[in-house]
Amino acid sequence: MTMIDDIKNKVAETAKNAIKKSNEIVEIAKINLAIGDSQSRINSLLRDVGKIIYDAYKAGDYFAEEISSKCLEIDEIVDNVNNLRKKLCQLKNIKICPQCEKENERDACFCSRCGYRIEDEAEDKME
Ligand SMILES: [Zn+2]
Repeated sequence: MTMIDDIKNKVAETAKNAIKKSNEIVEIAKINLAIGDSQSRINSLLRDVGKIIYDAYKAGDYFAEEISSKCLEIDEIVDNVNNLRKKLCQLKNIKICPQCEKENERDACFCSRCGYRIEDEAEDKME
């Protein structure tokens, strides 16, 4: 391989890595957006549940079925958010402290903020 070829290959490699990195950044931004949307949806459902309970209280009645269907919807979104967070951790090569939500290095055993013991199974059990 000539020196020119070597340089060409290095430039191509660097460009490829830059594209890969920017794709990852786009993916991370998309996931963060999806998590934000899901959290807004959860908050909205929690408001609905509160309103249903309050209306039921005012009417002297209790619509258990309506409430549990909203709660099921919340559970589904929470599962989805957990999966998105897991994907985000893999992309960013981090793990999130279950205690304080601080981002830590993937191989950390203890949280760098609160000292909480970060078990690897904490992420894996969400599967
Ligand atoms: Zn922590």
